[in-house]
Amino acid sequence: MTQAARNVFVASRLPKRAGVSGWVATLAPRTPQSTLNGSVIADVAIIGGGFAGLSAARRISRLDPTARVAVLEAGIVGEGPAGANSGFIIDLPHEVSSDGFSGESAARFRQSVLIQRSAIALATEMATENGWEKNVFDPCGRYSVAISAEGDKHLEDYAQQLSKMGEDHRLLRTREIGAVTGSPVYTSGLFTPGTVIVQPAAYIRGVADCLKKPVTLYERTPALSFERLGTGWLVKTPQGSVQAAKIIMANNGHAESFGFFRGRLLHVFTYASLTEAFDPSCLSGERKWAATPALPMGTTVRRISTGTGTGDRILVRSRYSYNPSIAVSDAAIQRAGRLHDGKFSKRFPTLSGVGMQYRWAGAMALTRNHVPAFGEIERGVFAACGCNGLGASNSTASGIAAAELTLGHDSELGRVYARLAAPTALPPQPFTTIGAKIHLAYREWSAGSE
Ligand SMILES: Cc1cc2nc3c(=O)[nH]c(=O)nc-3n(C[C@H](O)[C@H](O)[C@H](O)COP(=O)(O)OP(=O)(O)OC[C@H]3O[C@@H](n4cnc5c(N)ncnc54)[C@H](O)[C@@H]3O)c2cc1C
Repeated sequence: MTQAARNVFVASRLPKRAGVSGWVATLAPRTPQSTLNGSVIADVAIIGGGFAGLSAARRISRLDPTARVAVLEAGIVGEGPAGANSGFIIDLPHEVSSDGFSGESAARFRQSVLIQRSAIALATEMATENGWEKNVFDPCGRYSVAISAEGDKHLEDYAQQLSKMGEDHRLLRTREIGAVTGSPVYTSGLFTPGTVIVQPAAYIRGVADCLKKPVTLYERTPALSFERLGTGWLVKTPQGSVQAAKIIMANNGHAESFGFFRGRLLHVFTYASLTEAFDPSCLSGERKWAATPALPMGTTVRRISTGTGTGDRILVRSRYSYNPSIAVSDAAIQRAGRLHDGKFSKRFPTLSGVGMQYRWAGAMALTRNHVPAFGEIERGVFAACGCNGLGASNSTASGIAAAELTLGHDSELGRVYARLAAPTALPPQPFTTIGAKIHLAYREWSAGSE
């Protein structure tokens, strides 16, 4: 590759929408911030307006209120994966350690907790400052729910390990979890209080809209390319450009579309469906709760009550697919939807007449060794990508750490990120595709009814 070629990075593809998320559809339409027209100068250009990009902008504005920041979002804030997820900003790692949290795994656990709680601290700061209501940002904790003996055992093991780590939790028997969810199928549950539950589209819009000058967000403004200009960079968009000293790539799997982390990111989609509003008296239990599955790759379920008399809704999130083109078809969304219908009717027999109103999907970028695609990847270009499926917390934290690295600010979080390994290489094609498909199918099969 010539020197000139390494100085220019061109996007080979841009994000595509994967259905309309029920979170966006049930909010008033957004009036997007303006599109970039003409040329602007900034200290930092941020590519991507999801959790990572907007959190990075927020952190920069806190560390240096005079820093000029231009955030470029290809679409409309909230319409990408950050506004399409299940809304769990999770504080604790999911997985039960095989060695019972001795030594190295305990250190890894504490490191994940530090990363995830840094994200929650930033989110809480914004929620407090802006007085966000509970239907946008609710620090109410989460349930993990089991539906099988294997799931029960997993929750018991995890509860023991949480005790060992000094983390607050409560195990719920069949009757107790039934009283929360109104569902007859859950065999046990585990409540942990530290997770924040958000309406993800409202939350990410809120993060975007509390950014103040000299931070400027441009929506419907994809970064098409960037090239070296003097000691900095020139980022080109369809109708303008940003001349910036530094760039933060916060576009998750689309970092690869610019040629970064090639062969190191697994592009995986997951899918969700949201019911039509139903009469709350048709389902017993609490009006609002959020539950992740006991076994990884199982089904996430939330009951949402807006409290405005419009009825309640149930969200079902399940199914993973590997899509190296970072796009999925409508047919794939409908296929996943049929699976959701089955999961829904099994869990909520009293809601037999209630149908799904919205179905959608969203992209995630995973790495083989579960680390973020993070750090200075070219002189003056920093990455906060590779969400590993938990972007509400992990990408928020990556955005914070990238902002700190960009400004040369020292913090405990930054030191943790500096010690993380780089994403390892995936096997060559077609082995990655074959391996990813078999792995996802096996893990979904292992999750069984969970
Ligand atoms: C159905 C579903 C449920 C999920 N549930 C949860 C959950 O409960 N908790 C959790 O933690 N995670 C969850 N996730 C995962 C989570 O949504 C992602 O991990 C998260 O959105 C990643 O955040 P991010 O900021 O890194 O990337 P994104 O949210 O993908 O943001 C990147 C942004 O970059 C923009 N972009 C891309 N290319 C360009 C370009 N060239 N120029 C400008 N902009 C560009 C995109 O439009 C996008 O808005 C879920 C995902 C899905 C799909």
